[in-house]
Amino acid sequence: MLEPDLVLILNCGSSSLKFAVLDPESGKEFLCGQANALGGTTAKLVWRYRAQNETQQLDRDDDYTTVIRILVDRFDRQWSELRERLLAIGHRVVHGGELFASSVLIDEEVLSAIRSCCELAPLHNPVALEGIQAALAAFPQVSQVAVFDTAFHQSMPDYAYLYALPYRLYQQHHIRRYGMHGSSHRYISERTAQLLRKPVPEINVISAHLGNGASIAAIKGGQSVDTSMGLTPLEGLVMGTRCGDLDPGLLLYLGRTLNYSLDEIEQLLNRESGMRGLSELSNDCRALEQAAEGGHTGARLALEVFCYRLAKYIAAYTIPLHQVTALVFTGGIGENSAWVRTRTTDWLNGHAYQLDPALNEKIRFGAEGRISRQNTPEVLVIPTREEWVIARDAAQLALGAA
Ligand code: ADP
Repeated sequence: MLEPDLVLILNCGSSSLKFAVLDPESGKEFLCGQANALGGTTAKLVWRYRAQNETQQLDRDDDYTTVIRILVDRFDRQWSELRERLLAIGHRVVHGGELFASSVLIDEEVLSAIRSCCELAPLHNPVALEGIQAALAAFPQVSQVAVFDTAFHQSMPDYAYLYALPYRLYQQHHIRRYGMHGSSHRYISERTAQLLRKPVPEINVISAHLGNGASIAAIKGGQSVDTSMGLTPLEGLVMGTRCGDLDPGLLLYLGRTLNYSLDEIEQLLNRESGMRGLSELSNDCRALEQAAEGGHTGARLALEVFCYRLAKYIAAYTIPLHQVTALVFTGGIGENSAWVRTRTTDWLNGHAYQLDPALNEKIRFGAEGRISRQNTPEVLVIPTREEWVIARDAAQLALGAA
């Protein structure tokens, strides 16, 4: 029998469960899939194994525990060669509060610490806990590790993470900026160092993770020193359906003058705003680019607001970094949209960024590399690999515990 060497990654989102089996050394993916639209009538499980795509319909009342049972059954019957090789399970957990600055092996104490962070991420931490409990029951022999989205940003200094609110709100209720997408930003910093052939402690990176959710981080010598998401993933950049930065007085106006309830405000800011709200068309960047080309004014405006806000953040992050080694684009939009990359760096002409148009067109759809002209500041595109970061952490902790 082969020595266990693979990691199962479980990522329980607010209505989906993504999973993958990876070799933590090479990053090679053996299996990937997701359960989508959980709790709805169109819920289904889709996966790719040995170059074959397959689908299984799910029932409306199938929850995370049921889906994990279904996965266990598949591991027993269809993916048994992978099950025998499982070294660890890595769980993505959105919020670790101030309790976790790195990944940890899961035990009872860790479970109760994750539980105590539920009020900071009510849509995410409870489902992550449900997934962890189900996986602990299903794979009792396999080491299980929690990898937190917030952990990488625990290195932020207090002047970057504090809101200018009464200090007691921080002391008593842990209200502060935490940041998210930590695994992605960490990967970007490490991969940039590899590509530039420099040690991580010697490079300063601005990492722009632009997907449906979007955040940007200032990373100094491998340590996050500022990031755009805050207490929750609403703060910062314009996103697909989330508003990003707002005047907090606007919330009072919505409530007092326009009579919005708290639930309605939550829905508005999380699901109806961002590029979707501005364009009144779509949250999808690719669709908006096509519509803008066809003359749709709302689509054009949404993309402009997105790029302008992003450019302002990039300029601002030269403050904590002093010298920027590289600006890196990642996430679905950052990896693919030559238009967004051009428009954003156009705003930054005062910072000497200059894209090479041919490289900018070429480095897309999974390609990696430099898109700026020779002898101008480095602008790179790097496809993010959050699962690989989770797999590496899980394997390292599992082997350390063995
Ligand atoms: P998530 O945050 O859900 O993981 P992704 O990182 O997959 O999101 O990013 C999704 C976004 O990437 C969508 O707005 C999508 O339109 C955009 N995108 C993907 N491919 C392209 C493309 N070729 N051009 C422009 N935008 C793209």
